[in-house]
Amino acid sequence: MMTDTVPEVVMVNSVAHDLFCHSKGHSPLECREIKLAMVQERFGQRLNLAIHIASCMKHHRPQKLKAITINGKTWRVYLSRW
Ligand SMILES: [Zn+2]
Repeated sequence: MMTDTVPEVVMVNSVAHDLFCHSKGHSPLECREIKLAMVQERFGQRLNLAIHIASCMKHHRPQKLKAITINGKTWRVYLSRW
């Protein structure tokens, strides 16, 4: 999943697409349905994405965030400046 300075989701891979969109009518690269608010809602209080994205943009360093479990699967979240 990639974001930009807005910040908003601008691109997802197939794994993130399966988790957040569920539509089979378009490819993950064409997807415009996934919004940062949807992702944040799934993570809930466990992870504040906006704060980490802002820090990543400010310091120009990739970040590995804590692992999060959703629907029995563990997700490792990485952020990198585009
Ligand atoms: Zn989609």
